[in-house]
Amino acid sequence: AEDIIRKAEKLSVVGELAAGVAHEIRNPLTSLKGFVQLLRGNSTVNRSYLDIMLSELDRMNTIVSEFLFLSKPQDSIYEGGELTNILEKVVGLLESEAHLRNVQFRLHYQFVPIMIHCSENQLKQAIINILKNAIEAMPNGGVISIDVASCDEGRIRIQIADQGTGISKERIGKLGEPFFTTKEKGFGLGLMVTSQIIKQHRGEISFYSDGVKGTTVTLTLPMTREE
Ligand code: ADP
Ligand code: MG
Repeated sequence: AEDIIRKAEKLSVVGELAAGVAHEIRNPLTSLKGFVQLLRGNSTVNRSYLDIMLSELDRMNTIVSEFLFLSKPQDSIYEGGELTNILEKVVGLLESEAHLRNVQFRLHYQFVPIMIHCSENQLKQAIINILKNAIEAMPNGGVISIDVASCDEGRIRIQIADQGTGISKERIGKLGEPFFTTKEKGFGLGLMVTSQIIKQHRGEISFYSDGVKGTTVTLTLPMTREE
């Protein structure tokens, strides 16, 4: 047990350090990006090189931002929210991207309204990360179904099922680990952020896939009683 505690302490020191570094890197990154954009308007340099530089700078910026999000002491505001409303806003945000890729959302609620105590922006982010993975897992399109029903002890269960490539048994255990990705342009931070947000909401997350077709992500969250 002592060993575990020491490991956890070490990790949190490393985490703080990483957050400090991430923070320090963000400002020079922004200034670099500005100058590359300036150069782009000035055609003596091959434009495609500058485009690559810009997209790589964006990549760095995303990694740094995700890291900062993870390490920020969570100053988020928790208040009463309605789950189906939040889900619909999230689906609305992703609708055009899904449409482009022939992906359809199907929502099904056992009842409405579903009152929860949450930080709406964070919960949205958590669900966006799951839905983006589902979209990315279906290169030829398909259906993402979102099913919401009550489960035991005043908790609500959200099941998000896609018809994508699925995840093998060996890989399922790695979901949520930092930098685990199978994508060429992936960061492997999305599910780590999601897991952390769900945990902060006193929720649980689990993944199921037969490894051949489709993945189901199950979230459970505590409900609050309607006033
Ligand atoms: P990223 O999307 O940047 O790779 P994530 O943390 O969001 O990082 O996901 C990690 C990995 O989990 C993905 O690279 C992919 O291999 C796997 N994964 C997550 N969700 C799904 C899904 N719905 N279907 C298939 N694979 C998935
Ligand atoms: Mg992802």
